[in-house]
Amino acid sequence: MSWIMELKLYDTLTREKRVFVPLDPARVRMYVCGPTVYDFAHIGNARPVIVFDVLFRLLRHIYGADHVTYVRNITDVDDKINARAAERGISIRDLTEETYKNFKADIEALGCLPPTVEPRATEHIDAMKVLIERLVAGGHAYVEQDHVLFSVPSMPDYGQLSKRPLDEMIAGARVEVAPYKKDAQDFVLWKPSKPGEPAWPSPCGIATPGRPGWHIECSAMSWKHLGETFDIHGGGIDLVFPHHENEIAQSRCAFHTGVMANYWMHNGFLQVEGEKMSKSLGNFVTIHALLADWPGEVLRLNMLRTHYRQPIDWTVKGLEESWKTLDDWYMVAADASGTLVSGHVLEALSDDLNTPQAIAALHGLRNRAQSGDRLAADELASSLRFLGFLRESAADWAARRQAGRDIDVSKVQVLIDARTAARKAKNFAESDRIRDELAAMGVVLKDSKDGTTWEIAR
Ligand code: AMP
Ligand code: ZN
Repeated sequence: MSWIMELKLYDTLTREKRVFVPLDPARVRMYVCGPTVYDFAHIGNARPVIVFDVLFRLLRHIYGADHVTYVRNITDVDDKINARAAERGISIRDLTEETYKNFKADIEALGCLPPTVEPRATEHIDAMKVLIERLVAGGHAYVEQDHVLFSVPSMPDYGQLSKRPLDEMIAGARVEVAPYKKDAQDFVLWKPSKPGEPAWPSPCGIATPGRPGWHIECSAMSWKHLGETFDIHGGGIDLVFPHHENEIAQSRCAFHTGVMANYWMHNGFLQVEGEKMSKSLGNFVTIHALLADWPGEVLRLNMLRTHYRQPIDWTVKGLEESWKTLDDWYMVAADASGTLVSGHVLEALSDDLNTPQAIAALHGLRNRAQSGDRLAADELASSLRFLGFLRESAADWAARRQAGRDIDVSKVQVLIDARTAARKAKNFAESDRIRDELAAMGVVLKDSKDGTTWEIAR
């Protein structure tokens, strides 16, 4: 342990910031719900990955790298996966492998350390069945029409995490009403598979082969890798209900424990240019697509400029500012080689991962380094590396910046021609849109009676 630092974390269950006390400082344990692997991850999915990477780094710093276990699962059995594999005419295994490989490459580019364990749902079916059998034996689950359902009324204190009123939970978006449920709140632990769907021998004497529900996966994988009770459980705020509420119900009722995890942490949602990200709005951005235009460190910094519990508005303007900041940090600190992480940075992070405050501390160090303070430059460099930045040399970084300015000339000409056509057709909304698109590429247009010319914005 480097030194005793008081770490405070906001716990969704108690709705307060609490001092973090691990069950065992020699083995600090964190579980974060990972991706469902059927397509490229979007930039919203990157938020929990980056936020909990920062927490992982901080915990390793405080307790020692060998004393922290971080589990982030891979959901590789899901209806969306089945549908996508069928659509593309490939096997489920090929789809999940390909998607997982892409996910790994994306988040590595974002500067995230690999978690200690990345368990796959399909490799933990037996553990899920053990839990399901236990829940049935304990009167917390029942078999109906080849399904196994968790009986919510069997758990008197169900609902503490989300604290949602009962009627709201029943009407809730992801709560399915179905004839095999004794109570509308009951949820699926196991369901029968149709021919062609992935299937395993069912538990509880059910003859039809089946597959697990979503929530039981995380109860089984956290149990196998972290035990019945562990320290921190994380994910996006959308997972509070029903996913995490149901994980708690399953694990606590299977193990007869008072808690599943001692701290429940949730990141706020990400929206794009002021709007909810969705395929229908056309503002759905994958990490992969962003990485074609922006260095991974720019995406990472842009994410951390907002406190993790606040909603974040993802904008091109913000990305540009983040890139400028990194240019500056690279110039001042890339050649420095300190080992001491700034106390102000650690202090800010220890206050419920206050990354905006940590970044303010970095700016302070940068100003001192700029005026010739070598120690400040060293501290800036080591703090940035600790946070997952400065992974390139100053020269590589600068070269990349230059490459970012390279403009695809033929694409510019195609857009200019399309704009000229739009103007002729008096479709000024379209011609303005194209001008803006070019401006975003760093191209400024000059219209004259002889036609349109362009130059690179300076
Ligand atoms: P999913 O694959 O939808 O289960 O999401 C994987 C992770 O990304 C979960 O922790 C979600 O809470 C999180 N997540 C999904 N969409 C967003 C978003 N727009 N903003 C922040 N986190 C998100
Ligand atoms: Zn989960």
